[in-house]
Amino acid sequence: MISQDKILKDGKLHIFLLGSGGPLNNNTRVTSSIAVIGNGEFILFDVGPGTFRNADVMRLPIANLSAIFLTHFHSDHIGDLGEANMLSWVNGRNKPLEVYGPMGIEKVVNGFIMAYELDTEYRIAHHGSDILQPEFSKLMSKPILIENYNDRKLCFDRNELKIYAFEVDHSPVKPAFGYRIEYKGNVVVITGDTIKTENLVKHSQNTDLLFCEAISYEMLNNIITGANKLKLTRYVRILTDIKNYHMEPITAAKLAKEAKAKKLVIIHITPPLTNEFAEKMYLKGVDGIFDGEVILGSDCMKFKLDPKKELS
Ligand SMILES: [Zn+2]
Ligand SMILES: [Zn+2]
Repeated sequence: MISQDKILKDGKLHIFLLGSGGPLNNNTRVTSSIAVIGNGEFILFDVGPGTFRNADVMRLPIANLSAIFLTHFHSDHIGDLGEANMLSWVNGRNKPLEVYGPMGIEKVVNGFIMAYELDTEYRIAHHGSDILQPEFSKLMSKPILIENYNDRKLCFDRNELKIYAFEVDHSPVKPAFGYRIEYKGNVVVITGDTIKTENLVKHSQNTDLLFCEAISYEMLNNIITGANKLKLTRYVRILTDIKNYHMEPITAAKLAKEAKAKKLVIIHITPPLTNEFAEKMYLKGVDGIFDGEVILGSDCMKFKLDPKKELS
């Protein structure tokens, strides 16, 4: 099992894929979340339903959770926000938890605060305010405003870890962000949910690890055809709509190529892949586009980036 202190202080950047799935529930992948840990900072990018459990299962140092960055407010990206706050506080977090995200973040955060208010009171009454300090129980909203669509905004700069937000296109979800993380010469980019845009290519340049969402439209179409035959019109409509604001695996590969990425990790995997054949179908055509390593993300995957000698 991972030593919690070691990963916080060994000077490397540790990345944990806590959830690699999309919104279609299945028993192999939970929803969206990535943990980035380095130089004393522990940051979560999205915290979809079921993902915070994996942070605990992987023995991540949850009492040291410093901040959460949300890409957008679809439920598969925010459902565990209350759990992340409650469980990190109960485990000993000694500062309020900052939650960064697009405009609208206050509404989301205040809603979670309200939903967990009674539980917070129960726990203080039960264990005492010396153990569960009320001042650390709260989430703190940190709205990010990007004035010019093409710019990226530095929104976190602490302990050599820099986090930039940039706009993606997940319309009608506006604004929606991707994040670029820089640490000791390494670059990690998380696309969030989006179609492929010039802005995304621009802000993903020279990334060591590119976490890119992807949905196989071909596989989705097979499900839609079956649902049509069964006259499941509501299901057909929703699955059809999904196709206008995401990328396909081959589009993710094109992005990785244009961004000169070293490694592509495909996440937000949809539809659920039940066997090796389904995985092959999902990744069809990807190898012919991107020469670098392609990894089909799975829950609890770990990555480690050693500091580079020359800082970029
Ligand atoms: Zn979304
Ligand atoms: Zn999503």
